[in-house]
Amino acid sequence: MNPQITIATFNVREPALKLVAALAELGIEADIADDTEIQHDFMRLPAHAAVHVLVDKQDVLRGEMAMRDLQQTVQGLICCPSCGKSTVVFPQFSRKFPAPQWIYMLLCKIHFIEPEFYCESCHFTWSAKLPEPDTAHC
Ligand SMILES: [Zn+2]
Repeated sequence: MNPQITIATFNVREPALKLVAALAELGIEADIADDTEIQHDFMRLPAHAAVHVLVDKQDVLRGEMAMRDLQQTVQGLICCPSCGKSTVVFPQFSRKFPAPQWIYMLLCKIHFIEPEFYCESCHFTWSAKLPEPDTAHC
């Protein structure tokens, strides 16, 4: 089994399903990882960057190139304001925060710390309070 890499991130599932279907038509197999329930049920956060489209590691470049041609299909893409990639997670877990993930989630839940977006590509973090970056294009 090949490791899978995130190539696209959305707030909701629908555009991710469209992207997976469009990639399949181009012969690129993709899967969806959906963290919506974790964010909503456990942390009581509105879903942000919760739906990820993943491809096998060897298909990352083909998938990213295909996404450029699928600009109309990939509406709602969440992109890093620093590098422009769509390898965004929310909230960012334990990369800068030394405590285990569950402590981080608890502190977010009680609003002791504010959750941030995190880019897995360039490690940039940004506040969820700021307006989301331009989601039309990465
Ligand atoms: Zn980035």
